[in-house]
Amino acid sequence: MPRKLAAGNWKMNGSTAALAELTALEQAMPTDAPDVVICPPFPYLTLATGTATKSVAIGAQDCHPAASGAHTGDVSADMLADLGIGHVIVGHSERRTDHDESDATIAAKTKAAWSAGLVAILCIGESAAERDAGQTLDVITRQLANSVPDGATPDTLVIAYEPIWAIGTGAVATIDQIAEVHAAIRAQMAQRFGDTGADIALLYGGSVKAGNAADIFAVKDVDGALVGGASLKASDFAPIVDALKHS
Ligand code: PEP
Repeated sequence: MPRKLAAGNWKMNGSTAALAELTALEQAMPTDAPDVVICPPFPYLTLATGTATKSVAIGAQDCHPAASGAHTGDVSADMLADLGIGHVIVGHSERRTDHDESDATIAAKTKAAWSAGLVAILCIGESAAERDAGQTLDVITRQLANSVPDGATPDTLVIAYEPIWAIGTGAVATIDQIAEVHAAIRAQMAQRFGDTGADIALLYGGSVKAGNAADIFAVKDVDGALVGGASLKASDFAPIVDALKHS
């Protein structure tokens, strides 16, 4: 069985004061909660690991493919591991767009994460134009084929299906759309990696909120969520964790 995971992506939001939300989240965590990871911006990672010391793990939002070197402004997976970080998001659509990241770059980042001992939360998803053109499954299949390196296991990889048109827009994918794509991802991972591949956790991301989380988690092949806006406040995120626990 894939492990359930609720992951929060703070994006370029937060402050030292906002780290109090981590304490509040740990206090609001249900007993026997599923795995929870919050990914604040780089400058807050050390403070965050010092603040969330119980049931909330801290992850990062990106890493560079190289372990070190002349890459001004970048952060390596080894540095994240050195800080005690266990997860890193790679291939978020905002990075694919803002930083022109290709599937090959994302594969290299994933390998770097694995070399450092991190779990990669690898994001894939189609644009509105691609969905309207009926290309969703082609896009997903291609992104997986080109960005998931050989050797993926449930201990090293989590895949987040995030339709770009649903991120930060309030436009959630329908249950049928989520079910169709998640089934396709599961099948592709099982075909490539066998039983091990079938156990890789699959998250849905895109305007997940307390009000829609239970319906989304009831969908077959959904093992959790990658949450942006609703991860910033413990009072918004804790009910999502609770919904996952009861799914
Ligand atoms: C995200 O940033 O990955 C995301 C899914 O954002 P939101 O939940 O705000 O749509």
